[in-house]
Amino acid sequence: MMFECKRCGSCCKLIGCEHLRLVSEGFYECLIYDIRPEMCRFGYGLDVSGLSEEEYLALSYESCEKLRELAKEIDRTVESN
Ligand code: SF4
Repeated sequence: MMFECKRCGSCCKLIGCEHLRLVSEGFYECLIYDIRPEMCRFGYGLDVSGLSEEEYLALSYESCEKLRELAKEIDRTVESN
């Protein structure tokens, strides 16, 4: 099962992760990528989710989309204040 992360950093930004580094406009990297915790790895919780791999993958992409929208909304709110 292959997950294509866009490296937008939205998921990490929203939890205030201190290991996120901006590489270029809208493009981030994780400073501890190789030793990141299980909960940051794709597939975490799949075994207890009751979802098929396909459902888990689809839900992951759907979640990323929502996280990106939420992160943009927060950025817009911060900029307007
Ligand atoms: S929100 Fe999704 S696409 Fe963006 S960095 Fe996180 S996992 Fe990758």
